Amino acid sequence: MSKLTNFDPIQNYIYSKRNGGLRVSLGGLNPTGASCEITNELGNPKLMGKCHRQVWYSKKRVERTNVSDDMSYIRFGVGDAVEEELQKHWEKQGLLLAANLKVKAPIGTCSDGEQIDMSGEIDAILRMAEMDEAGRVIGIDTEQAIGIEVKSTRGYFSEKMLKGKGNKMYPIGYPKLEHLMQTGMYLHTRKVVEETYGVKIPYFVLIYEIVDSCSTNQFRIELSNDYDGEILVKTMDGRLILPQTDPMQQLESGGKMNQPIAGLTIENILERYVLSYEKLKADTPPERDFSLRFSDELFEEMKNQGELTKTKMAAFAKNDTAPVGDWQCSYCDWKDECYPFGVLTEGVESGEISQEDAMRELGF
Ligand code: SF4
Repeated sequence: MSKLTNFDPIQNYIYSKRNGGLRVSLGGLNPTGASCEITNELGNPKLMGKCHRQVWYSKKRVERTNVSDDMSYIRFGVGDAVEEELQKHWEKQGLLLAANLKVKAPIGTCSDGEQIDMSGEIDAILRMAEMDEAGRVIGIDTEQAIGIEVKSTRGYFSEKMLKGKGNKMYPIGYPKLEHLMQTGMYLHTRKVVEETYGVKIPYFVLIYEIVDSCSTNQFRIELSNDYDGEILVKTMDGRLILPQTDPMQQLESGGKMNQPIAGLTIENILERYVLSYEKLKADTPPERDFSLRFSDELFEEMKNQGELTKTKMAAFAKNDTAPVGDWQCSYCDWKDECYPFGVLTEGVESGEISQEDAMRELGF
């Protein structure tokens, strides 16, 4: 009988996934690192996407202080399996031109003249096909193709946001802006893919699989000016998806209507990429783009703008050391590196509070 009694195949899988199972980049900035200043549906200015300080930590290979737990690796594995399953079936029918296609393309120039590249990985390129009502392929267009980006997710908020369940603003759902920016960047740089495969790619399809309810939704993503311009979200039959206004909300806000998101353009995203690259040349991390806890002024401003939920407002009022701020910080892999004294870090940095007092206040 072997003495090796501690073999745990699942733990071994998690170990493998954590140490090298993730995808390797070709260098340069990444589509998932995109960010953009937009005006949202309520008419408020917002920074969306990746924090430049987070990009700095990542590219400078600063050790992560808040690493993903074991469960996250199982979640990543489910996401990979969803993609592979879809690719397998498209391949079987002769539709799959490329899977997990690595792309690298120039996206700008730094103030010192250095070229900035973006590198990413497109989930799939499919030949454009005609289908019958059951989904059977009855014709293939050899001159056109579509790009595919697959996201797997779960939970109530995914049903609400992505499928429109109980969503008065987008009753048929709307993609996450981070995913739109990523897909927008693939559309912007797709020329090299079109030339490689000898096809035109008029649009990408962003596919969501909500794995716990086994439901799906998909959106057609296009650029208003072919390779540039605004990122447009359409239904699969090509109708632009615009925000609706709930009559009750309209009444309460004195007749204010929700407006289409403005500023979500390739030009604005590229501008932020250049800024991010410039910041990477420094030896110290740039300013924070987001906050672990909103300042009192920002909290008031957001409250007046109608941007805070009742739960957030209550949590903020109840405890003045509660991290009630941007979700980007809550989920950041470098949260403890960026905020070593939690919500009191900025106070320590400005000399308002000593490190010792901050630690005491935090209960250490
Ligand atoms: S904790 Fe927040 S501000 Fe700091 S790097 Fe992460 S996202 Fe940016």
